[in-house]
Amino acid sequence: CANVAMHYCKQNGRHNFLFYTPDMNQYHDYRITIEGDLREAISRNELHLNYQPKVNVKTGFISGMEALVRWNHPEKGFISPGEFIPLAEETGLITQVDEWVLKEACRQNQEWIEDGYAPERVAVNVSANEIQRTDFADKVRRILDETGLAPQFLEIEVTENSVMQNTDQCIRTMQDLKALGVSLSIDDFGTGYSSLSYLRKFPIHYLKIDQAFIKGVLHDPSDSEIVKVMIQLAEAFKLEVIAEGVENEEVLHFLIENGCDYYQGYYFSKPLPPEEMEKSLVKKQSYS
Ligand code: C2E
Ligand code: MG
Ligand code: MG
Ligand code: MG
Repeated sequence: CANVAMHYCKQNGRHNFLFYTPDMNQYHDYRITIEGDLREAISRNELHLNYQPKVNVKTGFISGMEALVRWNHPEKGFISPGEFIPLAEETGLITQVDEWVLKEACRQNQEWIEDGYAPERVAVNVSANEIQRTDFADKVRRILDETGLAPQFLEIEVTENSVMQNTDQCIRTMQDLKALGVSLSIDDFGTGYSSLSYLRKFPIHYLKIDQAFIKGVLHDPSDSEIVKVMIQLAEAFKLEVIAEGVENEEVLHFLIENGCDYYQGYYFSKPLPPEEMEKSLVKKQSYS
């Protein structure tokens, strides 16, 4: 537990509202406060979404986007999902957070489509707890009905690690989602422990190579070999492959040369508030 505390405090140090101290009480207090605040954050409208474009490596055009949750705390300021998502997972609040994110991403995407933008798919991150629920696909179906978004414009991202717990149930949920017409991605691929035999069983469309490998492709020969192998693996399994965390042109060139399909990263765009994301969307031609 001390390790966990240190981890939290190191991250929080960046935001200057908690300084590292080995005092476990302070860590405990911090957690209780944040947990209580998170409970109310949804009703107080403190959560919002940013969108990061996904880009086609070959054409350079946008091909979808990922919704990333943001929490603007009234006193503590911006709290990153890297901090509050793990806490939400431990406390069970993640169900409400992920449901809010799903609804808002579907609502916003449907609004863009109705406003005449060329439709793009929006990807939503879903925690292990949620993908393992037997009623998760029903929840997604209900949200699609409520918002009017067609299922082909929704994608669900689950991390490699989360689908390695309770795998049979995850596969059933993923099959239900696929039957609905929703796309599925394995996120942070390469950081977990899935075996090739499992990868074959997952009814997925995309593999997202974790940014840790992408960051190393130019200077670490083992990272560049791993990324090449992952791209070939995706091809062999008839999956499309996305590189996360592309920060410069040289890395993009590496991906072009090695046949990666899509990328995301600061080189093209950081995650953007909806008004900014909207500017990157293409208005459909009007012939009237
Ligand atoms: P992820 O789904 O793997 O998202 C990628 C993270 O990398 C995002 O961080 C994104 O802002 C960041 N990123 C994108 N491009 C670059 C780049 O070029 N360089 C660098 N250094 N970073 C880049 P973010 O938004 O802080 O989210 C962190 C993680 O929190 C996400 O990882 C995801 O696992 C989780 N998360 C975010 N939103 C949600 C949500 O709505 N629900 C759940 N369950 N988890 C979420
Ligand atoms: Mg993701
Ligand atoms: Mg990822
Ligand atoms: Mg990640």
